[in-house]
Amino acid sequence: MLGRIKRAGWTIVEEPEEAEVIVVNTCSFIEDAADESIEMILELAQYKQAGSCKRLVVAGCLPERYREEISNQMPEVDAFIGTGAYDQIVAAVDGSNTSGGCLLPDPDSNPAQDKDAPRALSESHMAYLKVAEGCSRHCTYCIIPKLRGKKRSRPPQEVIVEAQNLLDAGVKELVLVAQDTTSYGKDLQPKINLGQLVESLAGLPVNPSWQPGAHVDGNEADHAWIRVLYGHPESIDDAFIKTVASHPNVCSYFDIPIQHVSSRILKKMGRQYTRETLRRLFDKIRSQVPDAVLRTTLILGFPGETEKDFETLLRFIENTRFDHLGVFLYSDSGDLPSHALPDHVPAGVAQERYDQLMSCQLDISAQNYQKYIGQTLEVLVEEAVEERLYAGRATFQAPEVDGMTYIKCGVGQSEARTGSFVRIKVTDAMEYDLIGDSV
Ligand code: SF4
Repeated sequence: MLGRIKRAGWTIVEEPEEAEVIVVNTCSFIEDAADESIEMILELAQYKQAGSCKRLVVAGCLPERYREEISNQMPEVDAFIGTGAYDQIVAAVDGSNTSGGCLLPDPDSNPAQDKDAPRALSESHMAYLKVAEGCSRHCTYCIIPKLRGKKRSRPPQEVIVEAQNLLDAGVKELVLVAQDTTSYGKDLQPKINLGQLVESLAGLPVNPSWQPGAHVDGNEADHAWIRVLYGHPESIDDAFIKTVASHPNVCSYFDIPIQHVSSRILKKMGRQYTRETLRRLFDKIRSQVPDAVLRTTLILGFPGETEKDFETLLRFIENTRFDHLGVFLYSDSGDLPSHALPDHVPAGVAQERYDQLMSCQLDISAQNYQKYIGQTLEVLVEEAVEERLYAGRATFQAPEVDGMTYIKCGVGQSEARTGSFVRIKVTDAMEYDLIGDSV
């Protein structure tokens, strides 16, 4: 959307008081996200009274989920556009849309991404690269297939061209995303798998205008990281694991949300695997990719979850020792199949389980990070924190969701530039963050 708006001649500004049009791109995956979106819309609506703002546009999953109901309740919003209408953002921004203030076409009617759509990056050194849109699974707690439509993979050539453009623009980390990334390509003709796509991306030249061997600020001209997020335990296959194992520039980072491990809860969730298949999968990854880092996501307090189910989950987390763990409390809504399930878990009980699980993970993470002390790591610099102190990420830290690695530069050392790779020797580890000296 940003790319289209820029191409239409608009200037993007950072501060809302400077904007003539404000676009709020929303999430409504869980209740907290929807509440946060609504709060932000109401806060930004005030700039129509007290700023230069003339139009307020709300895009994304909030209008897609709550449709005309939300548009009737928010007269301060000039246009709503759903997930299937992102290509009409310019008409919503300039007010030239003639089909009313609420654009909600079927998300399935739109391709995953228009290959000619320009990209406008919010970060210069890291870019999310969408490989597919939508999801054809039926997890009972999830509204995404309704909001985003069925899975539509982008043709590999299209993804590769976009990736090359991003690398040419200086991006140092490509983060592949989709709702179910490891199912990539199974809906294409001819079929292709994610391993094949990543293989092609891993071989793309980085900043080809630089001569081989030309080093700029260390080794930054030589390579870019490729990271894959949002794998699915049922679709992650040997080809993908092998590709990760055989390419040093593909992060050995496996983000595989499992949601739970109790077989009865998984069945109620509409997930087709068992604790045993998960155990085998993680053992296989660790044996084939010795430096593999595992991340997962869980839902606690799903309807019917008993103390025994929770204990089973806790034991699994203690034994598997994930490097990173995200936990959500079950978020109920009348439009979800899980809403009709019996034995909803009281919020207080779910919260207690959350606290217990997170305390267990805190210990695991703290112990796990000790192993990096004394090691030399490559870190992608994200920002300056203070004089001679910078924040960045190692290959095992994904943007926004994992911890950070802090880089100390000594007197006389050159500064660590945002978007460059630096090497550090780790000197200390906190529960979720590392710190080290630039070497
Ligand atoms: S696989 Fe992910 S996006 Fe698809 S329905 Fe399940 S939770 Fe939702």
